[in-house]
Amino acid sequence: MIVAIDGPAAAGKGTLARRIAEALGYHHLDTGLLYRAVGILSEQRGVTPLQAAENLDPEDLKRPDLRGEAAGQLASKVGSIPEVRAALLDFQRRFARQAPGAVLDGRDIGTVICPDAEVKLFVTASVEKRAERRVKELLVKGESVIAERVLQDLKDRDARDSARDVAPMASASDAILLDTSDLDADAAFEAALSIVRNRITTP
Ligand code: C5P
Repeated sequence: MIVAIDGPAAAGKGTLARRIAEALGYHHLDTGLLYRAVGILSEQRGVTPLQAAENLDPEDLKRPDLRGEAAGQLASKVGSIPEVRAALLDFQRRFARQAPGAVLDGRDIGTVICPDAEVKLFVTASVEKRAERRVKELLVKGESVIAERVLQDLKDRDARDSARDVAPMASASDAILLDTSDLDADAAFEAALSIVRNRITTP
């Protein structure tokens, strides 16, 4: 059983995916971490993004510096390299096939990585709402924030992720759209879980 969750940055898909996996007892992979790790490791080790992708160790995904905005921007750049995406494909597909099921979140899970996933969600929210949430998160972490900068960074990342030639961010034609602009985290989770449960029980 595979649950594919795609959507733009800061739409809440990571938290949703983690909570859905917990509720169902499934494995969870935040695939953004793969691209973030490739971006950071290639920069730090002075190797090409492809070399970083080919030598990626699952332990690398636990690095605390992967979560920041700088890693997100780097990820978005290395994510546009077709060879990097190809090098990360097998790992994601193998992860997805684990019993009793897996939830993967990213940009191309329903379209490229797991086109046969039993459930596909495309989670989105207006860019202004996403920026507002990201600003709050950063303030809670004690980071200094320029709100307009956060908004612009999200717009840049959306544009790059949607416009790239290979595996652009896109909703699969059979994905269910969940707009979380007017939902808090719990309401979004309840809505997503009920969609997933429905699909699991009525294939
Ligand atoms: O989801 P997250 O914000 O961690 O992703 C960081 C970047 O990694 C995205 O902006 C995107 O460019 C890239 N990414 C991707 N394909 C995925 C997951 C993330 O290209 N499946």
